[in-house]
Amino acid sequence: MAKKFDVAVIGAGPGGYIAAIRAAQLGLNTVCIDEFKSEDGKPSLGGTCLNVGCIPSKALLESSENYERALHKFADHGIKCKDVSLDVATMLGRKDNIVQQFTGGIALLFKKNKVASVHGHGRLTGAGDYYRIAVTRDNGSETIDAKHVIIATGSLPRQIEGITVDNVRICDNVGALSLKDVPGKLGVIGAGVIGLEMGSVWRRLGSEVTVLEALPTFLAAADDAVAREALRIFTKTVGLDIKLGCRIGSVETGKKSISVEFEYEGESRKLTFDRLVVAVGRVPNTEGLGVESVGVKTDERGFIEVDERNRTGVPNIYAIGDVVRGPMLAHKSSEEGVAVAETIAGQHGHVNLETIPWVIYTSPEIAWVGKTEQQLKAEGVEYRSGQFPFIVSGRARALGETAGFVKMLADAKSDRILGVHILGPFASELIAEAVVAMEFGATAEDIARIVHAHPSLSEAMHEAALGVDKRFLSL
Ligand SMILES: Cc1cc2nc3c(=O)[nH]c(=O)nc-3n(C[C@H](O)[C@H](O)[C@H](O)COP(=O)(O)OP(=O)(O)OC[C@H]3O[C@@H](n4cnc5c(N)ncnc54)[C@H](O)[C@@H]3O)c2cc1C
Repeated sequence: MAKKFDVAVIGAGPGGYIAAIRAAQLGLNTVCIDEFKSEDGKPSLGGTCLNVGCIPSKALLESSENYERALHKFADHGIKCKDVSLDVATMLGRKDNIVQQFTGGIALLFKKNKVASVHGHGRLTGAGDYYRIAVTRDNGSETIDAKHVIIATGSLPRQIEGITVDNVRICDNVGALSLKDVPGKLGVIGAGVIGLEMGSVWRRLGSEVTVLEALPTFLAAADDAVAREALRIFTKTVGLDIKLGCRIGSVETGKKSISVEFEYEGESRKLTFDRLVVAVGRVPNTEGLGVESVGVKTDERGFIEVDERNRTGVPNIYAIGDVVRGPMLAHKSSEEGVAVAETIAGQHGHVNLETIPWVIYTSPEIAWVGKTEQQLKAEGVEYRSGQFPFIVSGRARALGETAGFVKMLADAKSDRILGVHILGPFASELIAEAVVAMEFGATAEDIARIVHAHPSLSEAMHEAALGVDKRFLSL
């Protein structure tokens, strides 16, 4: 006999678990179905983000940065560290603990909010008064009927034909977050967010890292000025060997090494690595989901088609997060989850995709919101810009992190902020001010007139806003 619910959420990543909690808070009888299992084979809530994405990668980025500070940066402060050494097992253990605390925390949140949690693979099997979902798992199966369905099945790493990921020698994000020792030579295919973050971790821990990127431009989605300066810093200071415009040929796994043949600058090349990370983007996950049985459509790239309110076009079926259009970011998934739960409850849920902050947790960090300068040019929008370097910031100097800048773009006539681009320390935190400003329709002058604490990194945002009107006070 099928269990009946008002709402069934398929997937318990940051999109699905937040959608389920919000739906339950709004009085809807809600179930969340998720199939993710941790390395030890146990169900683990939180999806890619908590298990093998945002959280573990940030834990390792922090650990590896501390190691690098101890080796190379503390001396400037007069702190002498002798015999600095690395214990990778402890570092990985710390990361795993953080992950477990968060994934376990979701189970508690489900209990607190009265969300029914079901482990297993959910497959839509048909529609009547209710949508029917068959849930299968190793030790059994069950059937769930729901009036409303929220698909939040996320994404999977994109595969390259001819390269077999075993997550020991050739890794995707899962293996790259769990390498048991520091590879002498690490190859990374793909200079996107994940490739750069993983490359940074292992570079700081001592690997020689080569990043092979197919596109001729670096970080094409970022503002050109940020991408140019980031490429300079990542190659010259961080020590990543980034090769753009590569055409990957054959990849062969030998007894001890992996050799990669590729074309670069018109020549055939071959490099040998101890480990290879494949990070060439992610694809929407609709594997075995049975969307066709209820008439939900996917586009040519496999994304579930939705409108601006995440409706699939099939009554009462919604899709959110990585499995639909828009940036593949955890906070975007979560906000769509909230909006859809509120829509189901009769409210007017909505997410503004124009003000989603993007962050890359390299060192220095990269963050932006809104339009890039090249987008504004292409759209023929008249704009003014202000750019303020962190080298002039007292706080950045005190931190010893002076690379990068804040760049603000504002409409030439109305002065309304159109985009903010940051390369520098704590860019991930600083961008929040720009997001708030843009959501409130602020002008550059508004930010210029707001008092910013001194000495703080946020003064760079203030100065960039002043710079839009060409009246820097500290430059
Ligand atoms: C290494 C890495 C680092 C990242 N860092 C960041 C970051 O710093 N910031 C950021 O914003 N984003 C980051 N991301 C991206 C972020 O993880 C995703 O955007 C986010 O997890 C998407 O959330 P989601 O809920 O849509 O899907 P997911 O998190 O992918 O969750 C989907 C869940 O659904 C389950 N599922 C799928 N199909 C079924 C089914 N049929 N039945 C039952 N369960 C199913 C999956 O097992 C999974 O648990 C990172 C990603 C990676 C890989």
